[in-house]
Amino acid sequence: MDFVFLGNNLAADFVNTEVIAQAGRTDLLTSPEWLSNWFESSGIAVAIKCSENDLNDAKELRSSIRRTFDLVIESKTIQPADIALLNARSNELRRVLSGSNSDYKLSFRLESSADALALIAQTCCELLASPRIRSLRKCASEKCILYFVDTSKNQLRQWCSMETCGNREKVRKHYGKNKALEQ
Ligand SMILES: [Zn+2]
Repeated sequence: MDFVFLGNNLAADFVNTEVIAQAGRTDLLTSPEWLSNWFESSGIAVAIKCSENDLNDAKELRSSIRRTFDLVIESKTIQPADIALLNARSNELRRVLSGSNSDYKLSFRLESSADALALIAQTCCELLASPRIRSLRKCASEKCILYFVDTSKNQLRQWCSMETCGNREKVRKHYGKNKALEQ
């Protein structure tokens, strides 16, 4: 299955590596290589070598972000253990200065899986501390577990995607209406 990038936020996209597929809940991060592929697909960095340990760390962070997102969406307080993990991970993010001849740039060091997870954790922390957190949503479909930050002007985005869940709901409503007419 392909990765989905519809979250408008790196942390949301990372949580969205678990999807509902035909066979039910499906984890797209099936091996260290797929974690590396995700880092590349998301645009974080290419050719990061990942180990089984990195994969476990990634899944731990992902669970933490998912729990946090769910509580935020329910307007509940997030768990201290999750805040601690997010802080610990995001504190590992380092910046490096590079360049020459008065053309210098400051960029994130993104050489390892830990670096990439640090960036994801920091993106999550930034979202939590920003007003944009009020635009965090879970797809309105009961059969979907995808999250996104609603960046639309009217803040009425309900679906992860109009092509999948939005369309399915439209069809369901239409079918339901016809059924009601028949009775
Ligand atoms: Zn959906």
